[in-house]
Amino acid sequence: MSLLIHNLGQIATPVGRGAARGASMRKLTLYGSDAVIVVERGRFLFVGPREEMPREVVVDDDIDARGATAIPGFVDSHTHIAFAGTRESEFNRRLQGETYEEIAASGGGIASTVHATRRASEEELCENVLAHTRLMALHGTTTAEAKSGYGLDKECELKQLRAIRGANERSPARLVPTCLAAHEFPPESRGSDAARAGYLSTIVAEILPAVAEQRLATFCDAFVERDVFSREQGEEVLRAGSELGLIPRLHADELSDTDGAALAVELGAASADHLMYVSERGIEALAKSNTVANLLPATSFFLMSDRYAPARALIDAGAVVSLSTDCNPGSSMTESMPMAIQLATLRMGMTVEESLTAATLNGAYSLRLSSETGSIETGKRADFVLLDAPNYLHLVYHFGVNLVREVFRDGNQVVRDGRLTDGRR
Ligand SMILES: [Zn+2]
Repeated sequence: MSLLIHNLGQIATPVGRGAARGASMRKLTLYGSDAVIVVERGRFLFVGPREEMPREVVVDDDIDARGATAIPGFVDSHTHIAFAGTRESEFNRRLQGETYEEIAASGGGIASTVHATRRASEEELCENVLAHTRLMALHGTTTAEAKSGYGLDKECELKQLRAIRGANERSPARLVPTCLAAHEFPPESRGSDAARAGYLSTIVAEILPAVAEQRLATFCDAFVERDVFSREQGEEVLRAGSELGLIPRLHADELSDTDGAALAVELGAASADHLMYVSERGIEALAKSNTVANLLPATSFFLMSDRYAPARALIDAGAVVSLSTDCNPGSSMTESMPMAIQLATLRMGMTVEESLTAATLNGAYSLRLSSETGSIETGKRADFVLLDAPNYLHLVYHFGVNLVREVFRDGNQVVRDGRLTDGRR
């Protein structure tokens, strides 16, 4: 069965099987209203002006796009959606001037999410993950990374990863799992250096080997930060993961400069994430590497901080930059990639073209999926979005509303007229 999408206003997409860096992030391929998309067996069979469509293409079915703009499905390459419990009252206290430290001291913060996640059953967690993926799909995301990291013990970290795997079988967005056992030290081992060292060896000797053996994750992540995991501890975790076949990613330079970006490059990590405090040395290292600078502007926005990652400096130096939501209950409670794109352009000085490339092709590259998704190109998986807009600029220009009207993943329509389908046409 092949499907023809016609009467488009525009197709706007980056192109390539690898990453776009530096000035090439601004180069979108644009087609006008004469262009069509043909999908067959879950992949793009033809993209371009209708008159150039090969005669042998047989169309079985068609969709009138009614002037919509086609863009690739978003790739959200940094999320923490496998959690239980929400933290809106803590958020409300923060709005009224309480600091994160005060909230944490009274049992709030990440510790409250760890308690709720440990108490939740695997089925509950799976339903929670699914609920987030539905909102993601409604906002145009077709692939999302999902981290563990609220269990902080072997049993619960594995439970989170199994919940992600279970959700992936029914999720409208494809999920890519990451083990983030090194997110924080668990409440029971924060007391002493010896207890902390004990958790570190549990990660290396027990959690990561079990995750690798049960094939529960593709990636391994660590939060390197003042008072959390030191540079050396982060390195130990990620090297151990690497030896087991888990590709490293790294929460780097989020709250202070810990030389995290350079460490990510040294380890050959797929991404260095956050980077609000990245140093000149870190920017240079990223620019010369294939480690993606994954920026999460919704986190700065939600924490009411004026400190955003230096996107302009990173792109101008030649780094590969991607954008993600950081969806999590404490510092970024959103599934919306359009929101991340709007903040990237309005607060970080990225162009709309760079933001679109960062939110699609470059995110896919950081998940090792850019030969399969991230752009509208013949041969790739048919993961794309129809925006209720005459061109891609509306993605930022017409902000704060959801322009996503139709979403296709692997050629299956998962959102129709702004509503979820059961995944079939
Ligand atoms: Zn994170």
